[in-house]
Amino acid sequence: MDDPACPAGQSQAFLLQVLDTLPAAAYTCDVTGLITYCNRNAVDVWGRTPRINDPADRFCGSYRLYYADGRLMPHDECWMARTLRDRASYNGQEVLIEQPNGGIRWALAHANPMLDAEGRLLGASNVLVDITERKRIEEELAHQATHDALTGLANRSKLLHALDREIADAGRRGGPFALILLDLDGFKRINDTFGHEAGDAVLAQMRPRLQKVVSKQDLVARLGGDEFGILLRGADEHRARRVGAAIVASIGLPLPVGGRRMAVGASLGVATWPGQGRDASELLRHADMAMYAAKRARSGLEVYVESRRGPCPDERSLACELAQAIDRGALELHYQPIVAVETWKVVGVEALVRWPHPERSLIHPVDLMPLVESHGLSTQLDHWVFGEAMRQQRAWREGGLALELSVNLSIESLLDDRTLNAMLEMIEESPPHRLTVELSERSAVSDPKRAQQALDHFRALGVRVALDDYGTGYSGLDHVKLLTVDEVKLDRSFVRGLPGSTTDARIAEAVLSLSHALGLVVTAEGAEDEEALGWLEAHGCDRVQGFCLSEPLPPDRLAAWLESLDGLHTRRRPVGPLAAQG
Ligand code: C2E
Ligand code: MG
Ligand code: MG
Repeated sequence: MDDPACPAGQSQAFLLQVLDTLPAAAYTCDVTGLITYCNRNAVDVWGRTPRINDPADRFCGSYRLYYADGRLMPHDECWMARTLRDRASYNGQEVLIEQPNGGIRWALAHANPMLDAEGRLLGASNVLVDITERKRIEEELAHQATHDALTGLANRSKLLHALDREIADAGRRGGPFALILLDLDGFKRINDTFGHEAGDAVLAQMRPRLQKVVSKQDLVARLGGDEFGILLRGADEHRARRVGAAIVASIGLPLPVGGRRMAVGASLGVATWPGQGRDASELLRHADMAMYAAKRARSGLEVYVESRRGPCPDERSLACELAQAIDRGALELHYQPIVAVETWKVVGVEALVRWPHPERSLIHPVDLMPLVESHGLSTQLDHWVFGEAMRQQRAWREGGLALELSVNLSIESLLDDRTLNAMLEMIEESPPHRLTVELSERSAVSDPKRAQQALDHFRALGVRVALDDYGTGYSGLDHVKLLTVDEVKLDRSFVRGLPGSTTDARIAEAVLSLSHALGLVVTAEGAEDEEALGWLEAHGCDRVQGFCLSEPLPPDRLAAWLESLDGLHTRRRPVGPLAAQG
């Protein structure tokens, strides 16, 4: 009876055809390992055509074969050799085959002994299923699960895993290691101003910058957003500080993005092992606390200290509380008097925000603003401050007190159409008496063109524009030329040193003469003593703000302070005609 699967007279050709269409390499060898047959697909897996019955071409002798874990497989351990030796099947083991051109294929190896009717060994048949593509996909998936797609760096889960292993290893060695947590400063501004593509380009540039600074055995990970984590193997606090300083310097270099030069900064927190965390998540939390301390202090890098534990609550929940406080209008504005030097008369006030936190003392901008900026609350804050300050100014006016008002704006609010329009509407609805908006010089440099367009809307409504913190920008004294402004505010870091520091005095003189040449009013902020006041007066500064006149005060205390003055004059001096106008 004919075999139904093998038509009579065609059996050998038929079987060979079937073997050639198998999606696998099939071959046989004799008892000595000589190759006696191979199908067409063997060429793909082997990387060349096997030579039949050639003693010089034994698969187990001519190829480098590896176990799945990468160890070299000795020739007498090759599946074919084992099958022949043991007369047993060798099934489905993953192996690696190195092809003559150096290419590597993954294969699933099957081998079976071939016996004759009497049970004598004739040779072995082998099947190699090429699983290279499957392995590639598996590896890619594993990589995706442990890496960040944008930067190609390790992700949070890989870092946590590496920390756990490091704690176990370092525990045995007793050796130290350090964890650095890094958050970019000014990243949100780039993202909001220039779009996510620019933000992504900035993040992508962080990888080479970070990897250049650390050594090969260290691990750099992106934890999400603009936050990175770095495991420094074998590092103590000293090395962590050194690497940290190099990171801060490297990240601070200009970033070329789409034909522009962007700038970001970095705040770093360090936690070291042993001592600053028992497990991976505690180390991360402590490095996080140190990082926020660095952000607040604008110090670049802080190392975790035990005492931070108590007073520093979880930063994210604090930001959440802050967002709610802004919403509820639970923040306060204090007002610092601005005095005209010529007459020593109070001409206006600058509104400065404070947060009376229910469980902590009054939170000042030095702690507040980094929180606002890093949690994207700038527009929300500015919107509230703007409305509240204008309301206060109207209230004073109705009470017979005409005070100019200066309000600080962040660049985010200027460049955000909704916030900008809301502020312009407030002005149109109830035009203020002499309003000045202050924009920090540092933030104006990021996009002077768009900043100018926004500021022009204010100027069109009669609002004055001041460049704040003047002299601290990155590119010297250029920005009065780039932006049309009415006033510059000489930064308090220069005023503090007057008249003793010759450098500060030179910078102050340069700002005064340049600004006056351009017809701008100069306000010096941060005058703390009579000497500074005297110097500013002698050098023709127009206006001054500072603790030696008055610190920022809540409205009721400001009213009391103003009442204590001699007709708004801060010094009993002969009063010129300007002041007499009241
Ligand atoms: P700024 O606009 O340059 O404000 C002047 C800062 O100098 C205020 O700090 C003020 O208290 C301080 N100051 C005034 N006189 C002296 C002095 O004689 N000595 C010293 N050492 N400091 C003096 P403050 O209130 O802490 O505000 C810091 C910064 O926070 C402000 O700098 C401003 O950039 C920002 N800021 C404050 N309030 C707001 C706000 O409502 N909105 C926005 N966007 N930013 C604000
Ligand atoms: Mg200001
Ligand atoms: Mg300032």
